[in-house]
Amino acid sequence: MSYLASNYKRRNISFKKGKGSYLISTNGKRYLDFLSGIAVNTLGHSNPKLIKALNLQAKKVWHVSNSFQIPEGELLAKKLANKTFADKVIFVNSGAEANETAIKIARRYFYSIGKPNKNRILCIKNSFHGRTLANIFASGSKKMTEGFGPKVSGFDHFLYSDLNSLKKKITKRTAAIFFETAMGESGIKVHSKKFLKEVKKICDKKNILLILDEVQCGIGRSGKFFAYEYANVKPDIVPIAKGIGGGFPIGAVLMTKKVSNCMVPGTHGSTYGGNPLAMTIGNVVIDEVFKKGFLGNVRKNSKYFLKELNNLKKHYPKVIKEIRGIGLLIGIQVNVDLADFINKLTLNRLLTIRAAENVVRILPPLNVKKKEIDLALKIINKVCSEY
Ligand SMILES: *Cc1c(COP(=O)(O)O)cnc(C)c1O
Repeated sequence: MSYLASNYKRRNISFKKGKGSYLISTNGKRYLDFLSGIAVNTLGHSNPKLIKALNLQAKKVWHVSNSFQIPEGELLAKKLANKTFADKVIFVNSGAEANETAIKIARRYFYSIGKPNKNRILCIKNSFHGRTLANIFASGSKKMTEGFGPKVSGFDHFLYSDLNSLKKKITKRTAAIFFETAMGESGIKVHSKKFLKEVKKICDKKNILLILDEVQCGIGRSGKFFAYEYANVKPDIVPIAKGIGGGFPIGAVLMTKKVSNCMVPGTHGSTYGGNPLAMTIGNVVIDEVFKKGFLGNVRKNSKYFLKELNNLKKHYPKVIKEIRGIGLLIGIQVNVDLADFINKLTLNRLLTIRAAENVVRILPPLNVKKKEIDLALKIINKVCSEY
């Protein structure tokens, strides 16, 4: 009997330690961790630099209120601003919180320029933005919202990558278009550069803000620091989380100066958001990801992994339907029972996780080694051959 509520379907494995791309279970089995706590463990487990930084900061100061200056946060915000579109940053603690903050900023921006009715947010039908009330209604997913009414209003929905559907849903009241640059949970679906460029054009023309959720695909996961860089579009607001803490809970909202001006003292806050311990760790993760060659290596490994997975697809057309992905955000859409396939991978010591559309999601640490990718390929090959 467990005293934890039953809101998760948990696999019957627990871990006593992790090292790099591997996790060791409490009963001594070694697993290749290709889900990284859902795109969180950017630098793998027990990264020596993260351990050192955490221990050093733990002996100094963990937490102070945001009513004081926090130099570690100033430094992280500066690094993020220098390397991205952003001029300003608000730190929070999770992806859902970052997204809620992004929605608040978009609405407050139009309020601040005398357009309080321009407050509706246009999202993708059956998307994923986290589990808070606003975010589940932003997702337009029946499954996620069931039983959680009354509905949080203010969200409209268009169909994935469908420009006509998007154009039809825009009204004078549309404040922001809000979606994931590359969709994780909803099935590893990557928008084309053309789509992103067209959306940006529409936003510019109609004075609509572009919010790109990079909670999962950001911080190097796509092979660029942010996935939107592939299309060379400039968003207005980008919520991030997952990868930036490397396992420590951190969220943030990046934004332009134009929209940030409305966030005057008192408009938003978070007790833990951006505390010294979190910021110290975020700084280490960012420094590693921005090191020369780091992102190039993610792209190189991605190219190899995707090529080899496509070879497996050719070999096992009855098992593998489609290989999807960008960077090390990879999906194998299978023709077989998804839970069974993932279970078979787990029995062969490869950890992955499901996504929508019968997709196995593969999210190795970004510093994964080629020989670890080869081991994963060998296991996937073996499992495919068992069908
Ligand atoms: C995981 C995720 C979220 C929610 O993040 P939490 O930290 O679980 O609140 C939001 N958006 C996207 C795209 C995600 O992948």
